[in-house]
Amino acid sequence: MSAPHPVTVSLDTLASLAKRRGFVYPGSEIYGGLANTWDFGPLGAELKRNIKQAWWEFFIQRREDMVGLDGGILLHPRVWEASGHVAEFNDPLIDCRNCKSRFRADTFVEERLGISAEGLSVEELTRLIEEYQPACPVCGQRNWTPVRRFNLMFKTFIGPVEEQSAQVYLRPETAQAIFVNFKQVLQSSRQKIPFGIGQIGKAFRNEITPGNFIFRLLEFEQMEIEYFIRPESWEAAFEHWLAEMGQFFARIGLRAERLRLREHSPHELSHYSKRTVDYEYLFPFGWKELAGLAYRTDYDLRRHQEYSGEDLSYFDQERNERFIPHVIEPTMGVERLFLALLVDAYDEEPAVDVNGKPYTRVVLRFHPRIAPYKAAVLPLMRKPELVEKARAVAALLRNHFMIEYDETQSIGRRYRRQDEIGTPYCITIDYQTLDDDTVTIRDRDTMAQDRVAISALPHVLAERLGYGA
Ligand code: ATP
Repeated sequence: MSAPHPVTVSLDTLASLAKRRGFVYPGSEIYGGLANTWDFGPLGAELKRNIKQAWWEFFIQRREDMVGLDGGILLHPRVWEASGHVAEFNDPLIDCRNCKSRFRADTFVEERLGISAEGLSVEELTRLIEEYQPACPVCGQRNWTPVRRFNLMFKTFIGPVEEQSAQVYLRPETAQAIFVNFKQVLQSSRQKIPFGIGQIGKAFRNEITPGNFIFRLLEFEQMEIEYFIRPESWEAAFEHWLAEMGQFFARIGLRAERLRLREHSPHELSHYSKRTVDYEYLFPFGWKELAGLAYRTDYDLRRHQEYSGEDLSYFDQERNERFIPHVIEPTMGVERLFLALLVDAYDEEPAVDVNGKPYTRVVLRFHPRIAPYKAAVLPLMRKPELVEKARAVAALLRNHFMIEYDETQSIGRRYRRQDEIGTPYCITIDYQTLDDDTVTIRDRDTMAQDRVAISALPHVLAERLGYGA
């Protein structure tokens, strides 16, 4: 496939295409919507599935030293005390007393006052706001509450009584289920250190300022790995996983020039981390975190050992030595990657349609590995003999690939639709097909067409899609 063109698309254009074509819908829309929630339509469901599948293949299936886990969303509340989330997982917020608008105090100070808020305490943030008295961006008044800490974990209750003792949290990250099950996985999988456990699953955060389409969500999916190592090997392991993450992004087609690394400064580090490096992506609203790599030391296992009373140490038989493993954590969000892939894939170019009319061709240049549909099967016209043949070809290909069949509208408009949803190939059944059992294959990126025998189609398509590569 040809190299993608660097077109930067606005979020509005992307959100409207995503809605129209069935990638992402605003949540609960028939009830007037529920702010900052989204549902993923047929194409979005496929794209997410492909992202997760590519991740699982690359990080788990391909590696001898990795196993998977599917832990619960609800965990014992003590887990979040041990992990530090009850005490530490909070953001500072301020409210406008006049119009009740709410802001994250640290980003507010940075954006409105132009002062770096990194590592500032609640008191320091409050003092800055009292000193500068910035106007509320919504109502223009200068009447602020003091800065307060707000815990981002969603709470719910088990059982019919909504009392403190029945309170549980929806997990704000998938990582903790891995730590809690570390010992069991070690016993049942017969892995030896170094080895890792990977998990894909929902996480929930009561974000104060969600937004930017699906960039910051209240409910999202994480793909996380906890890789257990001996403490002295952390630097080598860190470099290894940083490179692995980069390779994964390349495998799913993210453009290297829109990715960069950002090292966290010491006072920005999370409570559990000794070193964190983010992969940032150039979103339409600037460079933002796409994924993170953290050296969590032995913080989590040590804390769970302390809080649970269970011995979570590891015995190294070769060295006859017992220790608490240290951890390197590569983590990324499915929807954030989804958004980066949409931005990355979006392209527009001048084109001429089948009737010689110029138009702006919108094309999502997805890597075939993640494209929702691998091919579309299209009868040239809605004539019974063509339709019947096309349906048979679609049925044949469905044994191997996600295929869309489409017989509506003119062929030109159907090609346009497939370009807009990023389908790598269009297979057209025409009158010649009825004579010699060949079809045309149109390449999304070059728009070039050639003829292939139906019997060879599964093989040719697999080859062109790069399967097995
Ligand atoms: P941020 O600084 O953007 O709040 P974070 O550093 O808190 O993110 P992590 O806790 O490291 O994020 O989570 C790992 C990954 O999960 C992030 O790199 C991101 O891809 C994804 N993620 C985190 N929070 C959200 C969210 N609210 N909505 C969507 N994805 C998220």
